[in-house]
Amino acid sequence: MPATRDQIIDRLRTVNDPELHRDIVTLGMVKDVDIDGASVKVHVELTTPACPLKDTIERDVRNAVLPIDGVDGVTIEFSAQVQQSPQARAKLDNPLPGVKNIIAVGAGKGGVGKSTVSVNLAVGLAREGAHVGLLDGDIYGPSLPTMLGLGRGTPHTANNMIMPFEKAGIKAMTIGQLVEPDKPLIWRGPMAHGAFNQLAKQTEWGELDYLIIDLPPGTGDVPLTMSQILPLTGAVVVCTPQKVAQDDARRAIGMFRELQIGVLGVVENMSYFIGDDGKEYDIFGKGGAQQMADSMEVPFLGHIPINTALRRNSDAGDPSANFDDAQLGGELQNVVRNLAGQISVKALSGAAGQPTLTVS
Ligand code: ADP
Repeated sequence: MPATRDQIIDRLRTVNDPELHRDIVTLGMVKDVDIDGASVKVHVELTTPACPLKDTIERDVRNAVLPIDGVDGVTIEFSAQVQQSPQARAKLDNPLPGVKNIIAVGAGKGGVGKSTVSVNLAVGLAREGAHVGLLDGDIYGPSLPTMLGLGRGTPHTANNMIMPFEKAGIKAMTIGQLVEPDKPLIWRGPMAHGAFNQLAKQTEWGELDYLIIDLPPGTGDVPLTMSQILPLTGAVVVCTPQKVAQDDARRAIGMFRELQIGVLGVVENMSYFIGDDGKEYDIFGKGGAQQMADSMEVPFLGHIPINTALRRNSDAGDPSANFDDAQLGGELQNVVRNLAGQISVKALSGAAGQPTLTVS
C-alpha cells in the first residue's frame, strides 16, 4: 500500500533546520508532497538559494521518509524564496521597498580587502541564483569601476532615476562612474550625506534579494547616513589576522553596534598563502580574526587566502573568474553561504514565533 501524505508529513516533522532548531514543517519549508506509487517527491522551499545546509536537509529528508512502509524512492526538489528582513518590513517610508536585505561591508581601516570581499560576496550570491545589487558606498575611494571592469561609460538615467550597471550577474552603482576618473573626491559632512543618499535612493535597483554596500574604511559620515536612511539587515566586518588589524575591526564592530546594526559576521581576509610547493604559509597568523570574532561574540564567516589570481582578477575587473579556481572559489563560496545562512537565521528567528504550515 502506498504511504499516505499524513505519514510523510509526520516523518518530516522530525527533520530540523540545523540552524534554526525547528522542524521544516513548522517553519513552512515543506511546500508540497507528491506520492506516485512507491515514489515520493518532497518540495522544500529554502530561505536562500545560497543555503549552506541544503545537503544536510536533503540527506535528513531522505533518511526520514525512506524507511516508511510503501516508499522505495525519495526525490527532493528545492526552490528558494529570500525573506524580506524584519528591519525592511518595519521601516516606515522604506526608500527601497523592493530590496529584501541590505548588508553593509565595513572594515576598521583601508587596504584589508573590504571592496574585494564586497564584490565577491555580491557576485557569489548571484552565482547561487539570487538577485543582487552592489552599491559602492566608498565615495572617497571608489573601487568598483576597476573591480567590475566598468570602463568609461556613464550610467543611463530615466525618470530622474539612475540605471545601475549590470556586470558579472549583479547590478552595481558607484560614484566612480559619475565623476572624472582622476578627480579627487573631497566631501564635507553634509555633501557626503547627500552623495550617499542620492546613490542609494536614486538608483533603479528594482527587486533585489540582497543589496551589498561597500562602506568607506573606518567610522565616518557614510555609515551614520546609511543607518539613518536605510533598513540594514546587518553588517559584515572584514579583518586581516594581525593583532593591529583586529583592534581596528573591534572598533568597526563597536560602531555598528552603536548604530544599532547587527553584525552578521567577520571575514578573515589574507588569511594564509599557498606557495607553489603546495604548502600553506601563515604570513599574518591565520585564525587571528576568528579569535577576535569569538571574543566579540559575532559569527565567523570564513577565511580568504592571499591569492595572486584574486588580485589579478580584481585589477582586470573579472570577479567571476575567482570562482573558477577550486581552492579560492571554495573558500569564497563558503563565506557567501555562511553569510546567506546568517541572514536567513535573522529573518526566520523573527518569524519562527508564528509558525505557518503551507502543505498543499
Ligand atoms: P579595501 O577595500 O579594504 O581598501 P581592497 O579590497 O581594495 O581593500 O584591496 C586592496 C588590494 O589588495 C587590492 O589590490 C586587492 O586586489 C588586493 N587584495 C585584497 N584581498 C586580497 C587577497 N586575499 N589576495 C590577494 N590580493 C588581495
